[in-house]
Amino acid sequence: MPDATDLDGLRAEVRSFLRDELDTGSFEPVSDSWMSGFAPGFSARLGARGWLGMAIPTNYGGHGRSPIERFVVTEELLAHGAPVAAHWISDRQMAPGILANGTEAQKQRYLPGIAAGELFFAIGMSEPDAGSDLAGVRTRAVAAEDGSWTITGTKVWTTGAHVAHAMVLLARSDGEPVDRHAGLSQFVVDLPHPDIEIRPLRSIDGAAHFNEVIFHGARVGSEALLGERGNGWAQVMGELAFERSGPERYLSTVPLLRAWTDQLRRTGATPEQRVTLGTLTARAWTLRRMSLSVAAELDAGRKPDVLAAMVKDVGSTFEGDLVEAVRSSSEGVARRDGGDPFARLLATSVLHTPAFTLRGGTNEILRGIVARGMGIR
Ligand SMILES: Cc1cc2nc3c(=O)[nH]c(=O)nc-3n(C[C@H](O)[C@H](O)[C@H](O)COP(=O)(O)OP(=O)(O)OC[C@H]3O[C@@H](n4cnc5c(N)ncnc54)[C@H](O)[C@@H]3O)c2cc1C
Repeated sequence: MPDATDLDGLRAEVRSFLRDELDTGSFEPVSDSWMSGFAPGFSARLGARGWLGMAIPTNYGGHGRSPIERFVVTEELLAHGAPVAAHWISDRQMAPGILANGTEAQKQRYLPGIAAGELFFAIGMSEPDAGSDLAGVRTRAVAAEDGSWTITGTKVWTTGAHVAHAMVLLARSDGEPVDRHAGLSQFVVDLPHPDIEIRPLRSIDGAAHFNEVIFHGARVGSEALLGERGNGWAQVMGELAFERSGPERYLSTVPLLRAWTDQLRRTGATPEQRVTLGTLTARAWTLRRMSLSVAAELDAGRKPDVLAAMVKDVGSTFEGDLVEAVRSSSEGVARRDGGDPFARLLATSVLHTPAFTLRGGTNEILRGIVARGMGIR
């Protein structure tokens, strides 16, 4: 575990890098930059500095650093609204997923590219009739005698599939849908693939970050199976702890909070605005402590599913509350076009808000997990 001085040094380095990037106009801070800020060049620059794949062992191209160092880097990138979407899924959950479950060949094949910021992944879990009820996935993977697999089915809301180099897919390899958690397997499928159709889906802001992905009997080799056949459910649950607990679950809209704070410094704040600012800052700080606790649990090899669900529920609610607080305090300011960066930032934050409590598992589902974990359900 690095000491506090090392962490402060690392934080200062990242801030200095971000200041340089902002000075050269490489990006404009946005809310939700881990979903909408697709910039492969930026990802590659982070990779070159050793700030991706930080916790991947050095023999797979990573940097063997601690999760807390990764947390510091991630926190700065998100709070600055930096464009991290291209590598986000790879670095956050595919690297740990492949490290935990992958074959040696899969580790050699994918991890160095993830650490370099050059290999991007998509997550193929949700389906038209299996979102919250993920165990109901109907995409089918049929094994042939030579060990290859033929995959048929449709995935939906697949973020970044149109620009990803690979996708991790949850499919039914054995049994029937009534078997629920049994008989599911994960696969790593390289993209593009001649029998995989990727159709864009537009969100309310007109952008197409996610897709419908249709597998028309797509054939993949035996080497595509990730982990153990039939163990997909347990593997996915492990991955979701990484997906749900990170700082992106409460920092997505912090660039707006920072911009609003700067604005109030310039214009002066009313007593009500001071109270709002103080309350939001205190909530962000509490969430940070909770997120750090999950990171420590993951680091210790434990499975903090319940705590991760709680962080995401409280964190994603906070993200939306923040936007609403700033919007109602800046009535009539939001504009998607025009020259005012604050007006643009506010407008895009408002348009992204509906997704916060849906993606990665809806808040209703998360509360069910927490209730079960507390033994009251
Ligand atoms: C921006 C964004 C990006 C996404 N990216 C990806 C991705 O990359 N890969 C991927 O696989 N998926 C992705 N998703 C999909 C996301 O995981 C699902 O939208 C989510 O799990 C909900 O599933 P659903 O949309 O099918 O809603 P449904 O499951 O149909 O739910 C509809 C409503 O019913 C409620 N509900 C359902 N079941 C229960 C219950 N048992 N108790 C109480 N309430 C219930 C839900 O809370 C929700 O409000 C993304 C979603 C968004 C918004």
